[in-house]
Amino acid sequence: MKFATKTIHAGVHPDPTTGAIMTPIYQTSTYAQQKVGEHKGYEYSRTHNPTRDALQENLAALENGKHGLCFASGLAATDAVIKTLNPGDEVVSTNDLYGGTYRIFTKVFEKYGLKFKFVGMTDGNAIKEHLTEQTKLVWIETPTNPMMHIIDIKSIAEVARARGIKVVVDNTFATPYLQRPLDLGADMVMHSVTKYMGGHSDVVMGALILNDDAWAEELTFIQNASGAVPGPQDCFLVLRGIKTLHLRMQRHCENGAAVAKALKAHPRVDKVYWPGFESHPNHEVAKAQMDDFGGMISFTLKGDDVEEAKAVMNKFIYFTIAESLGGVESLCGHPASMTHASIPPEERVKSGLLDSLIRLSVGIEDIDDLLEDLHQALG
Ligand SMILES: *Cc1c(COP(=O)(O)O)cnc(C)c1O
Repeated sequence: MKFATKTIHAGVHPDPTTGAIMTPIYQTSTYAQQKVGEHKGYEYSRTHNPTRDALQENLAALENGKHGLCFASGLAATDAVIKTLNPGDEVVSTNDLYGGTYRIFTKVFEKYGLKFKFVGMTDGNAIKEHLTEQTKLVWIETPTNPMMHIIDIKSIAEVARARGIKVVVDNTFATPYLQRPLDLGADMVMHSVTKYMGGHSDVVMGALILNDDAWAEELTFIQNASGAVPGPQDCFLVLRGIKTLHLRMQRHCENGAAVAKALKAHPRVDKVYWPGFESHPNHEVAKAQMDDFGGMISFTLKGDDVEEAKAVMNKFIYFTIAESLGGVESLCGHPASMTHASIPPEERVKSGLLDSLIRLSVGIEDIDDLLEDLHQALG
């Protein structure tokens, strides 16, 4: 099945009782048993729910994986992954990381005896010196947030796997429309479904997709035992959103390219971070592992003045100032004070995140309106 067909059909089967073409919202916490211990595979909705099952199967198919698991948020999914580790284990993570991921690693899990190292990964060999006997996991996010570095999944996976270390890729920015990490040698894909997958800024959800049966069983156990599951209504909304993932992503990419080029040509703009530029340091890797370059762009202003950056953001009409990304509407954010405020300033500077950096999530509106908005805001 091709990708566009999977978005619509994978995991979705007409309802057996009525033939309903859309997966019903099974808004139920429990299920009647015919006799004691005799049931139809459903006992309690923390453990199984048919709407969630359909979505999990759909997500697994999109990432070319065997098992899909949904969680109440992206961070709940990450939480479940780290709970499969033991005290003393180490995780080597990319340094240009989603702020909330950095926070859960350092503020929640370090006190349980887990160690996290944050390292630059744009050179695949650079991680070798950070791997030890205790390293159990390599955590990759690519494109990175908000600097838009590209990490070579295949080369990192080769280095890690040669030592029996598992590789998780946060595929939130790219989505499986642009990049399929399992095909590139990763062991697991993590998603903040909240973003492009849901696509309409109306749901908070996370997901994990993987092939390994034993690890999937362990995570299914944690999903039920810890209980951070999404409700059926949210699963329905995401199933609905995913049916247009390919169409939305295509337009996000087209609009993203146009906005990136317009920014680059603007006299007030200093640096534009977007992997589609040939001048981007990781452009060749991006071209090899992604099918297009996405709609996430960061840029700085000449003079690097934080107040000027805020003034530009305040003038935007269609680029709404908000946390999050990946919805149909265009958003803008100021990472240093918003999404990445939980990362200490000295860590931010290490990864090149200037205080005047503006991040855009380019939506799927008419490009003429978006370009007009950029020009009026930049003056
Ligand atoms: C938003 C986000 C997360 C966290 O997901 P939530 O759904 O907000 O819990 C993780 N990684 C990336 C790249 C994100 O953008």
